[in-house]
Formats: sequence, C-alpha cells, structure tokens
Amino acid sequence: MAAKLETTLVHGGEPEPRIRGAVALPIFQSSTYLSGAAEEGHYHDIRYVRLSNSPNHEVLHRKLALLEGGEAALVTSSGMAAIATSLLTILSSGDHILLQRGVYGGTHAFALRELKDFGVAVDFIDAGDPSSWERSLRPTTRAIYVEAMTNPLLQVADLDAVVAFARAHRLVSLIDSTFASPVNFRPIERGFDLCLHSATKYMNGHNDLGAGAVIGSTSLIKKIKERLDHLGGVLDPHACFLLHRGLKTLALRVRHQNESALRIARFLSEQPSVARVHYAGLESHKDHARARKLFAGFGGVLSFEPRGGEAAALRLLDRLKIPLRAPSLGGVETLITLPAKTSHAGLSPREREELGITDGLIRLSVGIEATEDLLEDFRQALDADAEKRA
Ligand SMILES: *Cc1c(COP(=O)(O)O)cnc(C)c1O
Repeated sequence: MAAKLETTLVHGGEPEPRIRGAVALPIFQSSTYLSGAAEEGHYHDIRYVRLSNSPNHEVLHRKLALLEGGEAALVTSSGMAAIATSLLTILSSGDHILLQRGVYGGTHAFALRELKDFGVAVDFIDAGDPSSWERSLRPTTRAIYVEAMTNPLLQVADLDAVVAFARAHRLVSLIDSTFASPVNFRPIERGFDLCLHSATKYMNGHNDLGAGAVIGSTSLIKKIKERLDHLGGVLDPHACFLLHRGLKTLALRVRHQNESALRIARFLSEQPSVARVHYAGLESHKDHARARKLFAGFGGVLSFEPRGGEAAALRLLDRLKIPLRAPSLGGVETLITLPAKTSHAGLSPREREELGITDGLIRLSVGIEATEDLLEDFRQALDADAEKRA
C-alpha cells in the first residue's frame, strides 16, 4: 500500500534499520569514505562528497523520488544547479528548446546567455496557447520547458497539453514545479519527464539554505547525475540534513500557506484601495479553472496592486509590520517584494509592461504566521493610507 504524502515526508526513504538506532539521520560530514571492493573501478560510484552519494544524499534521493512519484531523484546545490545541469544534459550543441515566456529570471538568463553560447537555440512560447507551439518547432527541437505557476502573476499553462505535445513530437518535457511543491502538484504522475525544484523555497521552507532537486526516470537521472559529478553543483551533507529536516513538515506548512494565502487574497480583492489581485485560487484569475483541475492547492504566493501605483505600494510596505521585505518565497516567514525592483529589475520598463508587471505590483509570499495577524496587519496598513488621503 502506498503511504500518503504526510507519511512519506516523515518516513519515506529512511534507512532500514535506522543507523545505530538514530531516529533522525545523522550528518555524514565526511568528504571521503574507505573504499570497498564492490565500488572500485566505477568513478561515479566511489563514495566521495562531490559524487552525491553520502547517506544524507541517498536518503533525500529516495524520499524525493517517492514524494514526486518518480523512479529516481537528485539533489543539487541550488535550484539553478538543478535547472542548468538538467538542461546541459538534455541538450547538445545544435539542439533547440521551447521555453515558456515569463519563466524564472535565472532560467531566462541561463537560456539566453549560457545555452546560446553552447550552440543551443531557444524560442519562447505562449504556454497558455497550445495552438501556437507547432509554429516554433524545428527538426532540432529536443525539449519543452515550463513552470507550474509563473512569477509573479501566478499564470498556469495548459500543462496537460505540454505533456501531450512533448509526446507527439518526441520532446523531453521539463517542468519547474517550485511554486506548487509536491503537496499541490506532482508533474511526473501527470506525464512530465523531469520535475525540477528550487528546494530553497517550499521544500526546505525555512529560508536558511540553498538547494535544488530534479526527479525523473532512472536513466535520465543517471545521466544528469554524471553531468553533475563533472559540473560540481553538489549539495553539502550539512545542507542535505537541513533540507531533510525541513521536508518532514512540508505538508503542514504548505497546507497552511494555501489556506492563509487564499484568505488574504480574498480580503485584498474586497478592498477598494486595491486595484487587482493575482492568485490562481480566486475565481477572478484567468487560469482559475485550469489551476483547480491540476492542483490540490494554490500555494502561498500572491501578488496585488494597490491603487496609486509605486508610491502607494511603497507606503504600504512601510506600514506593514509582519512581512519582511526580502526576495525568495515558500518559507515560514512572510516575505514581501516589489518585483519591478527585484526579480524583474533586469528587464526594461517596456518588457515589464508587456508581462503585466507594473511598478506598483507587490508580491507576497505568505509564511506560517497566524492568518488573523497577517489580515490585521494588512487592515491597519491599508486603513492608515486611506485616512491619510481622506
Ligand atoms: C528561486 C527559483 C529558482 C532558482 O532557485 P535557486 O535555489 O535560487 O537557485 C528557480 N525557479 C523558480 C521558480 C524559483 O522560484
């Protein structure tokens, strides 16, 4: 019988029997291991810290594969290490990839600068319009890459159509599922070949480490692992331990974040001083129906625009007492940013306008504080602004 997610988070992939009886897996802070006869001769199997095969790595790999319903998994030193290493494994010089327009800034820059330097051609597609994709296909197209939800407008592509399109044209389908987490969405079970995560976000969930993960078939993960062995973006055993600890509470955290973000999104959408709220859990979001079909919850991130543009947004940020003004998302602390000044600062004002990212747009990553306290904080911050204007 397959265990439910909550049980897998705690017990899945743990060593049987527990090592020296330890309930929590100890940190194997050793760069190298005594060689055994069975391992000799296979470089990738030698126990050595860069080869991602300490007991801390192995337990995480088993747990993540179980969580996402994949055959195998690999942890990396950051989300970008997972993304870059996977793309550099799937693609070779002369190949072509289709990338969703509006992907994470680091991925966008990696595709345009690094992949292009390696001789890989990149085309951006409107992931919400499957009928437009075929036009961008080339005989050299090898892969299609999308995200579960885009940042910061939380758009949801037609993910089932992405899988069908990849199968019809023999492409490798990759999805960055960071914003969903396996609590809300399991892309491998939906037919994706590779599922990527910035484990820096929900998976670890405590804003205290950087990590990444990739989940997929045994054969694909083996190839990616061998490239990681050479590129060196390996996760340190101590960071493995922290990620492992963070994962155990993933379901509790994300369910709370789902609920809290939905209540805050509803509250904000009822305020006359708020012009727009973007959250796929709201009926008013253009991708709400699709998100409902695909996801068990809509996540902890939302964005909104107060009336009065950037000046009003900055006043609101100053008046809020609980949210910390910092980038990143998915952790226990509620964080707040202006995407035009952080994640999308590298774009021109015109490019931002085309994506719908105005100067006054605020992104909120809801943490695990009491929802009532956050609502009260927004209430006082918006009221103070209304009084000032009255
Ligand atoms: C943060 C993030 C990344 C990059 O992850 P790092 O751990 O910062 O390298 C990739 N994709 C998404 C959707 C992210 O939010």
